[in-house]
Parts: sequence; C-alpha cells; structure tokens
Amino acid sequence: MSGRKTALVTGASRGIGRAVAARLARAGWAVGVNYRERRDKAEELVALLRAEGCEAVALQADVAVRAQVDGMVRRLEDAFGAVSLLVNNAGVAGQALFQDVTDELWERYFAVNLNGARHTIQAVLPHMLHEKAGCIVNVSSIWGQHGASCEVTYSCTKHALIGLTRSLAMELAPSGIRVNCVAPGVIDTDMVRVLGEETLRALAAETPLGRLGTPEDIAAAVAFLASDEASFITGQVLTADGGFLP
Ligand code: NAP
Repeated sequence: MSGRKTALVTGASRGIGRAVAARLARAGWAVGVNYRERRDKAEELVALLRAEGCEAVALQADVAVRAQVDGMVRRLEDAFGAVSLLVNNAGVAGQALFQDVTDELWERYFAVNLNGARHTIQAVLPHMLHEKAGCIVNVSSIWGQHGASCEVTYSCTKHALIGLTRSLAMELAPSGIRVNCVAPGVIDTDMVRVLGEETLRALAAETPLGRLGTPEDIAAAVAFLASDEASFITGQVLTADGGFLP
C-alpha cells in the first residue's frame, strides 16, 4: 500500500464503530464514517476528527441495501481513494423468545448483521484483489461463539459472521487479503444500555475482570488486527470480553 490509506467503518456514528473510526483516523487512516440514521452523531465525529487534523467523511447508507453500500463506497473512493481496510461493525440486536421471532425480525437481523458484511466486502474487494492487499475485520460477538437464550436470531447472525470470516480468510489468503474477527463481550454502548442499570451491574459483576468493556477496548483489538503487527494473522476470532466466556 502506498500513499493515503483509506478505511471504511460501518455503523460508526455511535458505540464501538465510533471508537474504531476515531482510533483509525488518529492512526493516520482516512476514514469513512458510515451511519444509517444518526447523521448528527456521524457529522459530530467527523468534525472532531478534522479539527485534530485527521481525514474523515460521514457516509449515509443502510448496509442491508446493496445499492446504498455501492453508492457509499463510490463516495468514499471519490473522497479518499480505494478502501484497503474494511471494518464491518454495523449491527442490530434485541431480545425475544424464539417462538415470538417474526419473519421480519429474522430477515432484518440477517440483512444488517450478515448481508451488510457481504455487501461491503463485495464492494471493496475488486480493488483489494487488484492490489493483492487489504484487510477486513468483522465485529461478531461472544454470542457468535456461545449460545444466547432469548437472542437466538442475533446469535445465529454472529455465528454466521464468524463462518464468513474463517472461510473468506481461506479464500482470500492467496490474494494477500487478511480477514479476521473481533468478538466483544458486554460493551457499554446504547445497544446494551437498553437492558437497564441493574442488569448492567449484574453483567459487570459476572465479568471476571469486574467491569463492562468500553468501545475503546474493542477499537484497540480492531486496530491490532488491522495493523502490520498482525500481518501473519488471518481467519482468527479475537475475543475481547474481560474473561466472560468460560
Ligand atoms: P450501537 O451502540 O447500537 O450502535 C450501532 C451502530 O450501528 C450505530 O452507529 C448505527 O447507526 C449503526 N447501524 C445500525 N444498523 C445499521 C445499518 N443497517 N446500516 C448502517 N449502520 C447501521 O451498537 P454497538 O454496541 O456499538 O455495536 C456495534 C457492533 O458490535 C454490532 O455489530 C454489535 O452486534 C457488536 N457487539 C456489541 C456488543 C455490546 O455489548 N455492545 C457486544 C458484542 C458485539 P445509526 O445510529 O446512525 O443508525
């Protein structure tokens, strides 16, 4: 890779994606800050990063919609050049008994959490294949490694993302493209705050390190996998959960 290095982080307006985008931008990447609804938060982050001298641009797209993803990648390439690092972070979660899971809910979770990654990867892959270089980091979950009661749909999407990571890593390794995954434990973001203070305290107590993770904890894991320090690592799942999983 030479010259400017361009990264795309999906779901970067809030939570983990926001911390990942900020960390990468501060490490010298020109970053596409994807959002779906929270334009205000995405633009606030971009303004903050630009004020620090970093390169960043806010990009609206629902990752579940291929045409929107293709348009987003084109806008990012126009701004900063082709993408050499992709972080698939956008995701949706929620709790429901399995017998209450509707077709709409099942399909939406798969559309965002799994097809979203397929859409972005297929949009950036031609350039990576041409360069014979590139890096993809998918954000799965410990619930992609372990069963999760009342989160069957979410858990299935996150298991699938790990399958995607492992298989694609095998397929793309001969082309010099690395594909890895981070599996966060319970991280203090809007996604889990809906569970309420009491549940969050219990989850922190259940975590051997005695606290919830921060978005910055996960950004550090993503940044490591994206870095040259990880140049011999592909097809792996890096769990960052404070010891939560046995
Ligand atoms: P969050 O606080 O709910 O933020 C979700 C982000 O994803 C937002 O920026 C949101 O954008 C974006 N997003 C949602 N649907 C999208 C779509 N269809 N297209 C584009 N962007 C979309 O979530 P988080 O906790 O940071 O989670 C980030 C990732 O980590 C997810 O994949 C999640 O499954 C995974 N994870 C989280 C935890 C945790 O404990 N928090 C644990 C394990 C794994 P807008 O706000 O602009 O709509």
